[in-house]
Amino acid sequence: MCQVEEEYHGPLLREELPRQCVKCKEASAAVVIRAGDAYCRGCFKEYFIHKFRAMLGKNRLIFPGEKVLLAVSGGPSSCSMLSQVQEGLSQNAHKKLRFLPGIVYIDEGGAVGQSVEHRQRTVEELRAVFRATGFPFLMVPLEQVLDLPSSVVLSAPGAPEQEAGAYKAAVDHFLLSDGSSGVTAGQQQETPPPEVQEAHTHSLQRLLGSARTLTAREELLNILRQHLLVHTARSAGYSKVMLGDSCTRLAVKLLSSISLGRGAQLAHDTGFSDSRYGDTILVRPMRDYSAKEIAYYNRMFSVPSVFTAGLDTKTADKSSIQHLTESFVIKLQANFPSTVSTIYRTSEKLQSCKGSASAGRDRCLLCVCALDTAAENASAFSATLISEQLSQTKSPEESRQAPEWTAPASQCCSIVRGELCGNRGRGCCSSAKASEPPPLRSLLCYSCQLTIKDMSSEEVLPQYILSEAETRLRRSQLREEIRDFLLEDEADEG
Ligand SMILES: [Zn+2]
Ligand SMILES: [Zn+2]
Repeated sequence: MCQVEEEYHGPLLREELPRQCVKCKEASAAVVIRAGDAYCRGCFKEYFIHKFRAMLGKNRLIFPGEKVLLAVSGGPSSCSMLSQVQEGLSQNAHKKLRFLPGIVYIDEGGAVGQSVEHRQRTVEELRAVFRATGFPFLMVPLEQVLDLPSSVVLSAPGAPEQEAGAYKAAVDHFLLSDGSSGVTAGQQQETPPPEVQEAHTHSLQRLLGSARTLTAREELLNILRQHLLVHTARSAGYSKVMLGDSCTRLAVKLLSSISLGRGAQLAHDTGFSDSRYGDTILVRPMRDYSAKEIAYYNRMFSVPSVFTAGLDTKTADKSSIQHLTESFVIKLQANFPSTVSTIYRTSEKLQSCKGSASAGRDRCLLCVCALDTAAENASAFSATLISEQLSQTKSPEESRQAPEWTAPASQCCSIVRGELCGNRGRGCCSSAKASEPPPLRSLLCYSCQLTIKDMSSEEVLPQYILSEAETRLRRSQLREEIRDFLLEDEADEG
C-alpha cells in the first residue's frame, strides 16, 4: 500500500537541477517533475492547484452545492487531496470550488491486528488534521462493515443522466442565487467514534484470516472498505465520494486488476468516475498526479499525513499479486520514467460497456460490477470452468468403483417421470448437477469467484452479504421453477 508513497523521499534539490524555472523564467528552480520540467516553488504550487481544478472542471460531474465525501486514509495522496479542496474553497469567487465537503476516515487497524491503543493514537492524530480543516468528519472503524444492510450491495437508481447544458445552468443559477455566501463547509460535528467491540474485531479478523492468500485478503479488504464507504456516504446524504488514488496507484491497480481477472471492471476500477453503485458516484480527482509530485508538494507546503499500516506492510514483494505488481511498476518507473504515465493513459481510454449489458443485468454480489460470467467462450472464465470440469471428471475405472450411495435414488433425474433411470446418479443429469460450482459463486463475477475460492469458508462472510445471496438464490430458483409458464423475453426480441 504505502511503498508507492514512500519511494520518493529523496532530496528535493538534485545536483543536475537547472537553475531557472521553465515557467516564469525568473525564480530559481526548486523541483523537477519530469525531465526538462523544472519549476520554482511558486510556479509548482500554481501548476499543482490548477491541475486539481482542471480535473474537476473537465469532468463537470460535481455540481455546485453538492455534498461530497472525501475518503482520507491518512496517506500522502488523500491528504494532498484534502488540502486541494481546502485550497479550492479559499480561492476568490471566480475560481472557487462550490461543493460541500465532508471527510471520512476508515480505521482499518483491526484488520491488520493493531492494538486498541495504537488505533486510538492514529485516530487522534488524524482528528487533529481534520479538525483544522473546519469540515465535518466521520471516523468509522472497519468493524462496522459487519452491521451493514444488504442494500449496500445493490446498485440504487442514480440521478437521471444530466443534459449537456445542465452543469453550466446549475453554476449560473448558483452564482445568481447565493453567490459565495451559500457555501460553507457545514457544521463541524464532533461525534465520538463508535465503540469497537472486541468480538467484532475478532469476527473481522476471522473473515480476513479465512483467505488463504494475501492476494485474496487484500481483495476482500478492498471490497469491504468500499461497501462501508458507500454506505457511510449514503446514510449521511453525500452523493459523491472522492478517492485519493494517484496516477501511480492507478497504474498499479490497472495491471494488478488484469492479473486478477478484473479486465471487464477496469473502467470502473481506474476511471475518473465510477457509477457502479448508482446513486453514489466514486470520483478520483488525484488521478493526474504522480506519487512523486504529491510527495514533493506535501513536503514543500507542509501538508500533514499520518502513516497507517496496510495488510502488505513489511511483507516480501511476492507476498501478493497486488504487492508484486506495485514493486514491478516502481522499479520499472525508476529506470524508464514514462512507464507510469503510459499505463495511466491506457486507463483513460477504457470504457465500461454501457447500455443493456450493464443496466438491467445482474451484478456481482461483492464488487457490484455487471457480471462478466456470461461472456463469450473465449474468456478466461470459461477456460477455467472447462479445466475445472475436466479435472473433476472421473475415469470409467473410478466411477465403477464408486459406492452405490454416492447419489441417493431420490436425486435421480428419472424420478420425475416416476421411475429411476437405473444409473443411481452415476452418469445421469443429477450427478452432473453435483459437480456444478457452489451456489454463492454463481452470483459473483469471475475475479470475485477466484477470491472466494481462496477462502476456507464462505460462512464467515458478513451477514449482509450472506442474506443478500440467499435472497438472490431464492429468486433465481423461483424463476427457474416457473420458467415454463413465462413468455420468453428473448423470443419476443428475436
Ligand atoms: Zn517560476
Ligand atoms: Zn465481483
